[in-house]
Amino acid sequence: MQKNVEKFGINDKRGRPSTSLDPFASDKALKEPALCKGCQSYLHHKRWLNNPETYQQLKSDPRVHWVTCPACRKIAEGYPEGIVTLRGSYLWKHEDEIRRLLKNVETESFDRNPQERIIRQSQKEEQIIIETTEQSLAEHLGRVLHRAHQGELNIHWAEGADICRVNWERMN
Ligand SMILES: [Zn+2]
Repeated sequence: MQKNVEKFGINDKRGRPSTSLDPFASDKALKEPALCKGCQSYLHHKRWLNNPETYQQLKSDPRVHWVTCPACRKIAEGYPEGIVTLRGSYLWKHEDEIRRLLKNVETESFDRNPQERIIRQSQKEEQIIIETTEQSLAEHLGRVLHRAHQGELNIHWAEGADICRVNWERMN
């Protein structure tokens, strides 16, 4: 079982730019009930969900298959599908507020779909860079930020649509 899941590596995907097949989306091969040993999400009718109570019930079920979910594998391998870049002097004047907003979006997204996660946040020169496991989360972060703080938002797809790049900027 485990072998099956792990044969899909980063190179496998990046080596096939013409296809939009997600090598991490190999849940079809997973037998249910499956529990992620990383984030404690569980697979239900081929969808990953997160609910602490269900986790408690499932974890002692002898039929459970212990796996690492696609999002946890992307985080472990540092494999982003969305990259959000924030810049502009307004950002630094409202940094705490903006970081709080992004954190809230991350928490809400996880509750809705535990596959939508932030891999890492970093600061490079005058930019904040946020890498996400899913393209949709990058886009969502950008849109929420734009709605709350205006500025200029650009969303574009690159590398054969493997990665969604979101740029937000506000000068003042
Ligand atoms: Zn997980």
